[in-house]
Amino acid sequence: MKGHPLSEAPAIVIIGGGHAAAALCNAVVAAPTGQPLHLVCDEPVPPYQRPPLSKAFLKNPQEALQHFRSPEWYAEAGITLHLGDAAVALHRDRQTVQLRSGRELRYGHVVLATGARARRLGGLPTPLDNVLTLRSAADAETLRTQLAAAERLTVLGGGFIGLEIAAAARQLGKAVTVLEAAPRLLGRSVSAPLAEHVLQAHRANGVDLRVGVQVDRFEVDGRRLAALHADGHREAVELLVLGIGAAPEQSLAQGAGLACDNGIVVDACLRSSDPSILAIGDCASFIDAGSGQRLRLESVPNATDQARTALATLSGREEPYRALPWFWSEQGGLRLQMAGLLPAGTTAHRRAGASAASFSLWHYLGERLVCVESVNAPLDHMSARKLLESGRHPSPAQVADAAVALKSLA
Ligand code: FAD
Repeated sequence: MKGHPLSEAPAIVIIGGGHAAAALCNAVVAAPTGQPLHLVCDEPVPPYQRPPLSKAFLKNPQEALQHFRSPEWYAEAGITLHLGDAAVALHRDRQTVQLRSGRELRYGHVVLATGARARRLGGLPTPLDNVLTLRSAADAETLRTQLAAAERLTVLGGGFIGLEIAAAARQLGKAVTVLEAAPRLLGRSVSAPLAEHVLQAHRANGVDLRVGVQVDRFEVDGRRLAALHADGHREAVELLVLGIGAAPEQSLAQGAGLACDNGIVVDACLRSSDPSILAIGDCASFIDAGSGQRLRLESVPNATDQARTALATLSGREEPYRALPWFWSEQGGLRLQMAGLLPAGTTAHRRAGASAASFSLWHYLGERLVCVESVNAPLDHMSARKLLESGRHPSPAQVADAAVALKSLA
C-alpha cells in the first residue's frame, strides 16, 4: 500500500485487544516463538480487565481501568501495538492483514481474538441516548456517567451482565427494574434451583425483577426511549440497559471465507478452517473435550486457557484444548462460581455452607459428577474444580454431608 510498506518478516498477528489477546502476549513473552509479534486493537487503549466494568467500575467514579500491561511493557517485549486501528480484512492469498489505517501486515500466523459484541434489539431504533449496552471501557464510562445522574434504571435481560449492573445500581441507591422474557433467569448458564435463588436474592435487594415478560412495543421521543410496553403495561424509561447477550465477532473470518457457526469454527488445537489462522476466546467455536459438544464460551478462564493452547499450536506442538470450563459472577452480596458444564438430565445434591447465604449444588449425571455451582462458597468451588479436573467422583452422600471435609475427597 502506498505510504504503508508491508512489515518485514512473516509475523504472528494477534487481532483483538481483550483477555485472550493479552494472555497470548504474556504466554509468547514467557516462551518466545522467534517470530515478530503484532497486537492489533480497535479500541484506543491496551488490553484491560473486562469483568470490573459491570461491578466495581460502575459504582465508583474514581475506579480506573485495570490494564494488564503498560504500553512500555509491550515495547520492551518487542510487541508492536496497533491501538485504535482495527483489522478490516484478511487477505489469505497474500497472507496479509489490512488495518483501517491502510497499513498491511504480512503474517505467518494470525490469531483471531476478536471477542463478542453486545446484541441489539431488532425493533429498537439506534442510536438512542438513553439506551445502552455494556461491552467496552467506552460503554462503561457512558453507563457510569448516565447511571450517576439517573434515579431509575431498567434492564432488559436477566443474564449475568444485566444482573450485575442491576446489583451495582441498587448499591448506588437507584430504583431498578429487570425484565426477562424467558420463564426464568440465566436460562442458558445455571440450574433452575440456582436461578431461583438468584431471583429471590435480587428481589430481597429491592429489584423489581419480572420473568416471562414480553416487550410488545417501544415509545421513542426524538433521540430518547420514553417508555416500553410489556405484557400490556406501559413502563416509563429513564435509562435502559440491554443485557440480552452477545454475538461472536466473526466478521473478519467470514469475510475471509473461514468456516463459522455461532463463532469461528476451530479444531482441537484451535486452528480455523485455514491452519495458519487460529481463533481463541469468545469468538471461537470449539469442541469441548469433556462432552464432545461444539461450544462457544464467554468467560475469562476460557479466553486465558485457550491462549495457552494457541501458543502450543504456534510453537508446532499438538496439545488439544482440554481445560475445565468455569466462570464466576458477582451480584451485590452474591458470589456465584460455576465449574463444569450442566447437561440435561442431572440430579442436584445440596451442600450447606457456613451460613444460610452460602451453599453449593453438586450435579450428577448418573454416578458422574459433571458440574458444581457455588454461592458464597469459594472453598467448595476450588475443591470442585480439583475433583472435576482429576475425574474423581465422590458420592452424592459424601458431598451433601457438610461434616465431610471436601479437602479429604479432592
Ligand atoms: P474480549 O475481551 O471481548 O476482547 C475482544 C477485543 O477485540 C475487543 O477489544 C474488541 O474491540 C477487539 N476487536 C474486535 N474486532 C476487532 C478487529 N477487527 N480489529 C481489532 N480489534 C478487534 N467473564 C468471567 O469469567 N467473569 C466475569 O465476571 C465476567 N464479567 C464480565 C463483565 C462484562 C461487562 C463483560 C463485557 C464481560 C464479562 N465477562 C466475564 C466475560 C469476559 O470478559 C469475556 O469472556 C472475555 O473478555 C473474552 O475475552 P476475548 O479476548 O475473547 O474477548
